[in-house]
Amino acid sequence: MIFEGLADKLQGAFNKLKGKGKLSEKDVKTALREVKLALLEADVNFKVVKKFIKKIEERAVGHEVLTSLTPAQQVIKIVNEELTELMGGTQSKITFASNPPTIIMMAGLQGAGKTTTVGKLAKLLKSQGKNPLLVAADIYRPAAIKQLQVLGEKVEQPVFTMGDKQDPVDIAKAAISHAESNNNDVVIVDTAGRLHIDEALMDELKNVKKAVKPHEILLVVDSMTGQDAVNVAKNFDEALGIDGVVLTKLDGDARGGAALSISSVTGKPIKFGGFGEKLEDLRPFYPDRMASRILGMGDVLTLIEKAEAQFDEKKARELEEKLRKQEFTFEDFLDQMKQVRNMGPLDEILGMIPGVGKQLKGIQVDERELDKIEAIINSMTIEERRNPELIKGSRRRRIANGSGTTVQDVNRLLKQFQQTRKMMRQMGEMSKGLGSGKMKG
Ligand code: GDP
Repeated sequence: MIFEGLADKLQGAFNKLKGKGKLSEKDVKTALREVKLALLEADVNFKVVKKFIKKIEERAVGHEVLTSLTPAQQVIKIVNEELTELMGGTQSKITFASNPPTIIMMAGLQGAGKTTTVGKLAKLLKSQGKNPLLVAADIYRPAAIKQLQVLGEKVEQPVFTMGDKQDPVDIAKAAISHAESNNNDVVIVDTAGRLHIDEALMDELKNVKKAVKPHEILLVVDSMTGQDAVNVAKNFDEALGIDGVVLTKLDGDARGGAALSISSVTGKPIKFGGFGEKLEDLRPFYPDRMASRILGMGDVLTLIEKAEAQFDEKKARELEEKLRKQEFTFEDFLDQMKQVRNMGPLDEILGMIPGVGKQLKGIQVDERELDKIEAIINSMTIEERRNPELIKGSRRRRIANGSGTTVQDVNRLLKQFQQTRKMMRQMGEMSKGLGSGKMKG
């Protein structure tokens, strides 16, 4: 996951500060030296680091911070604010045309994840009520057109193609007419990628830009290439002019150098981050949430959004009702577990809870344990899931055999389940008590 190494080191540096009651100027400088090294090791642009440290030092060595009651917290707060600023400050959104269709032109080098991102963006925009048309104007990379068609099928949005023999400018123009007559309020153009930046590529992109006048040019870069990604962005911006960056493969980028440098080097915001290969793995990029993650303060907002996307309200209300009536069964349990797991890998989810990230270090969340639980419940009959009291000796053995687990595993799950039920009953009674109290009052 992104910023792993950096988060460790920064939190280490600040923990030393927290241990002290009062801070001297020297304490702060020592900590900032560690911060500087950590950023350089994370492959953040050298000039960016220098400027960043200087700014923090100016703010942190001030009288107010050092004499405050919680100087370490004050320093961390400043670092948090400056990290946020470094990544662009506030979240930067796509500009939609007042007169649709909004034309989004995607650019990027081969392999950066451009075509995949077109599909992901279509899915994201669709979920916001848009009706995007995907346009295959990368006529050079073998299979790029087919790839886009497959993505379009998955998100159930139309893909416009004219094969690989036409000029990309003509394709893009025809696509816009097509969108206009088919009620597509967004057009996402997948343009040519090359292995390296060359003049022919830039000329082609400039021609497409001139012909379709995009509202938004998004450059897709691979975060795992670190400072190369920053240079690519700088070159594209100088030659073509971009409106924002999509930083892909953040799930595999442990260092985070590109994320921390690209916006201050190019002056252009990171608008989206790619966090995996699946279509739902594109998210708006929030500099403040990223900064909080680096400093181990968690990312509660993303967690809540993920939960909201996953849990449907009607089901939640039904569940509440069941809990109140004490009808919670293994069927509900399984259902809940699946929903939570759909939110993503558990260690990532837990890492978003403040303070948990650090404690998880060294503890591997064992997804296999959860597989085991699912297997056990799957081996129960419907009758047993609804009435766990039925599950006695021979049934326990049958379930263990059926799920490839042991009787001890089954016993443990049954015990946990009973405890959960008991706890819920108590909570139910407590809330009943509170409710009647309110009535009287
Ligand atoms: P293009 O040549 O720029 O169009 O690149 P593609 O869209 O074909 O992507 C290249 C590879 O990167 C594919 O295997 C994608 O699945 C993968 N990829 C794209 N975005 C991400 C991401 O955010 N995370 C991960 N892990 N892989 C990604």
